[in-house]
Amino acid sequence: MYRVLTEQFGNPSAQYPLGHQARTLVEDSRAVVADALGCKAENLFFTSCGTESNNWAIRSAAWHGRHTGKHIITTAVEHSAVLEPLRALAQEGYEITRLRPDRSGNVTVEQVADALREDTILISMMLVNNETGCVFPVAEAARLLKARKSHALLHCDAVQGLLKVPCDPVRWGVDLMSLSAHKIGGPKGIGALYVADSLRNFRPLLPGGGQERGLRSGTEATAQIAGFAKAVELRRENLAEKLARMAALKSYCRDRLLTIPGMETVGDGTAPHILSLSLAGYPSANIVTELGEQGICISAGSACHKGKPSHVFAAMGLPKKVAAGTIRVSFGPDTTEADIDALYAALKEHQSKRFPML
Ligand code: PLP
Repeated sequence: MYRVLTEQFGNPSAQYPLGHQARTLVEDSRAVVADALGCKAENLFFTSCGTESNNWAIRSAAWHGRHTGKHIITTAVEHSAVLEPLRALAQEGYEITRLRPDRSGNVTVEQVADALREDTILISMMLVNNETGCVFPVAEAARLLKARKSHALLHCDAVQGLLKVPCDPVRWGVDLMSLSAHKIGGPKGIGALYVADSLRNFRPLLPGGGQERGLRSGTEATAQIAGFAKAVELRRENLAEKLARMAALKSYCRDRLLTIPGMETVGDGTAPHILSLSLAGYPSANIVTELGEQGICISAGSACHKGKPSHVFAAMGLPKKVAAGTIRVSFGPDTTEADIDALYAALKEHQSKRFPML
């Protein structure tokens, strides 16, 4: 990214050599990210973030289905970047069915089947829930739509799934898939949307100078795009080994933290990089602040909620005390057992210094 910012800073649309260099860089990067997703480069469009990809997918899918109906299915535990654009559509007269997870945080394809109607135009289902690590049945939902010969499009927010769990939109038959670089070690402020071949006339997000095959105009964020591709390349090196290590660490962390009196797991997410636990009676906001001061970075629910109670835990029906004490531990390829041991010690100390809230 530094090289792109300081040396290869041409505009990819410019005709001079620096411009051609930048164009090559953007297209090579697109090929790298597309390869990780198992799709053709021409089906991948760069955006400014996962939020933008979700908003674009949902808005344009609604437009695409405008002659078919106004019913949309989603889950009650999607990221706000899905729930909020859907709420806006609801205000415009769309009917949104929000599938509730069970106490373990999971939703089933049977719930989707029960909710699916003739006038359903879109299903938006995330691949991995960012707060529980639960993996949702996206491939099964795609199969269901095919079996029912439904006109509904299937959008998947795979921001937490890319290079963490199997993610194969082409083989599964997903129409739209959102990605974001910063969940795999890439820069913030760059995302992508996969748009299936069948959506040739997909509605542009930003009409303008015609970049991104006319669908998302605006001069390409070349350094971020290069950073996205670099992150994909680095993450894919020995990926299976990295994922196995993360899964083993998650299991070590779960076993170790569950020895703390009152600690319980929240949901049974199987993704290797997210573990949700609750120290009921000890509000997570206090834990996160105190541990943060010691250099231990964990989250309370979703980082995006800024202190608001999590809609995910509410939808799962967690008792308030458990929801209020929920912390999310995330694992990356560089997390170590020593990190987990430090977390364990800090949580024990936190607990020893405070009385539990009733
Ligand atoms: N979707 C999920 C599941 C996420 O976890 C996030 C970010 O935390 C987003 C969407 C938003 O992505 P971005 O921060 O790139 O807008």
